[in-house]
Amino acid sequence: MKVAVVKENAPGERRVALAPETVPKLVKAGAEVLVENGAGEEAWFPDSAYAQAGAVIVSPAELYTAADVILTVTRPGPDAVPRLRAGQAVIGMLSTLINPELARDLAAQGVTAVSLDGLPRTLSRAQPMDALSSQANVAGYKAVLIAANAYGRFFPLLMTAAGTARPAKLLVLGAGVAGLQAIGTARRLGAVVSGYDVRPAAAGDVESMGATFIELTSVGPAAGEGGYARALTEEERAAQQAELAGHIARQDVVITTAQVPGRRPPLLVTEDALKAMAPGSVIVDMGASALGGNVIGSVPRETIVTAGGVTVIGADNLPAAVPTAASAAYSRNISAVLLHMTRDGTLAVDLDDEIQAGVVITHEGKVVQQATARLLEPANDGGADVHGTGN
Ligand code: NAD
Repeated sequence: MKVAVVKENAPGERRVALAPETVPKLVKAGAEVLVENGAGEEAWFPDSAYAQAGAVIVSPAELYTAADVILTVTRPGPDAVPRLRAGQAVIGMLSTLINPELARDLAAQGVTAVSLDGLPRTLSRAQPMDALSSQANVAGYKAVLIAANAYGRFFPLLMTAAGTARPAKLLVLGAGVAGLQAIGTARRLGAVVSGYDVRPAAAGDVESMGATFIELTSVGPAAGEGGYARALTEEERAAQQAELAGHIARQDVVITTAQVPGRRPPLLVTEDALKAMAPGSVIVDMGASALGGNVIGSVPRETIVTAGGVTVIGADNLPAAVPTAASAAYSRNISAVLLHMTRDGTLAVDLDDEIQAGVVITHEGKVVQQATARLLEPANDGGADVHGTGN
């Protein structure tokens, strides 16, 4: 089996699907590893490191011709899709719930598509494959560094000959994987940290990281299925926004990470909340998306300073901004998926396997993953309210 690593070509994408350290593991399992020249250079993995680890460096043309399995970070772009051929497999974070047409096209081409974002995350044996978590961890960490960079004061309490600086007050809204990493990172930088989530189980997680959990009296518990949150009703949302505004006003820095599977990110920081913040405050919206984010008016990849002097940073693909660590973690995730699906040195699709039933999106000309197939049914509009998680 020839396993090939492509050079990512989405704008700003610096990650690579496989790090050199993972190459020997695949070689040991019987794979021949091909790496497109320059694939890892943006993540500081030179071609020579791959070659030393046992991979063969190839041109893009050779790669697409020879590969049995192609490893990617994000979905193949419009140039790459036509180059794939029947019988080939592509494994990556394909986000087919946001872009079901990609699944339809790959199925039509006879390509087997495997997407790490379809993984059943609550299975403990799937944890080494959980790229949504590994990348959310990186993103939560980077969000805090971005906030610290934009903030005009210190995060820690500093006592110097020139006076004492009080520590920054930082609130994390949404305490899932990214939020908890943000809390941990902000604590290590010395900020006074609090956290909030609609899932009651998050209270213990927040407190175990040394932060204060904010409990709202106006919104009841909103745990959904599979450890995720459910969407709030209109009334709950309004009550949450109003009560949160009081807490937000007291913060120097707010980091928002709230997501609900299959929905646009919930709006947590309203115009009124923004107006009540002091000049110099900073918000990083990790939920920023084309559909709107957790913060009113936030725009992905843009920094906006409100009339009241609040800096609102719309985050975009934060894992790509920590490319070496994010790639190393992703490399372990994707190789675990590949090895899970490998029998006697070849890719063996088995849709009766619980993990494969989640991650295999297309096979033998059909869209086989149910969630994606449902979006392609004629009655469906393609899932306009669907968002991508951690990608
Ligand atoms: P996510 O990215 O879907 O959402 C981030 C956070 O936003 C969640 O904690 C969610 O509760 C919160 N949120 C949603 N709506 C909100 C609102 N209106 N107000 C405030 N907060 C809101 O979540 P995630 O980080 O992918 O993780 C979600 C859950 O899955 C967590 O419980 C996590 O521990 C769990 N998880 C479990 C495993 C496992 O069992 N192996 C692996 C990964 C994640």
